Amino acid sequence: MPIKKQTARTSPAKAPAKKNAIKKTVVKKVTPQKMAPKVSNKVGNKVGNTEVNKAGNKAEGDGLPLSVVIRRRIEAQNARFHANDNISAFIRPGELEGLVDEVAQKMEAVLESLVIDTESDHNTKNTSRRVAKMYVQEVFNGRYTEQPVLTKFPNVSRLNELMIIGPITVRSACSHHLCPIMGRIWIGVLPSKNSALIGLSKYSRLTEWVMCRPQIQEEAVVELADMLEKKIKPVGVAVVMEADHFCMQWRGVKDRDSKMINSVMRGSFLRDFNLRREFLALIERK
Ligand SMILES: [Zn+2]
Repeated sequence: MPIKKQTARTSPAKAPAKKNAIKKTVVKKVTPQKMAPKVSNKVGNKVGNTEVNKAGNKAEGDGLPLSVVIRRRIEAQNARFHANDNISAFIRPGELEGLVDEVAQKMEAVLESLVIDTESDHNTKNTSRRVAKMYVQEVFNGRYTEQPVLTKFPNVSRLNELMIIGPITVRSACSHHLCPIMGRIWIGVLPSKNSALIGLSKYSRLTEWVMCRPQIQEEAVVELADMLEKKIKPVGVAVVMEADHFCMQWRGVKDRDSKMINSVMRGSFLRDFNLRREFLALIERK
């Protein structure tokens, strides 16, 4: 089984400063009428058309698609909104439903361009709405929802031994093809007596939140390690991710067995060879 092993040793200082990245994007003025796919009036139950832009009209920039309204708020703050960025701070209550409507409408146009007869094909009749809900509410949900609340406990027992959490199931998607990435993650933490500890389930919640975005694996593990360092302030943190990339299996080279493994070692995991070896030996046995 060919295994692509890639070790990314990134220090926190080298991590990209996302907040400062300034991206200029030209916002095109598109009226909702112009965007709407051509819909036959004969079919009354056509996906979501009556509801589209409901939320957008309520928001500022009346008449603009909701996505444009949100994009303008982000640009006003010079924030980044790449596929793997969380933009929840720019989304107001109730707007996610409006985004689902907008994505459903545009998905319908994609199906139309794929020359699929969604009117008489009962299997694809509601596909656009199903896909829109899947993207916004499920598989890319980590872009639109706030970081899960992590209850922190002081390290009263002054634990300073290696902790390993995993394997945590990973479901993500590549930002190149939006193909699934399915895998597992192991997290190693060496707390200091001043570290804040978080409950075991919170590691899974945090991992899921980071992974539920379109991205590339190399960046995903770095982002997770950054977040853990910030939250726990450990002496060392290690993240190893092993995943199947469906863009290599379902399409492309169609190599069913290829996996990608990434590891990020920080602090003591980087400096202390024995600690690193202990961590890697323990997760190898899983
Ligand atoms: Zn891909």
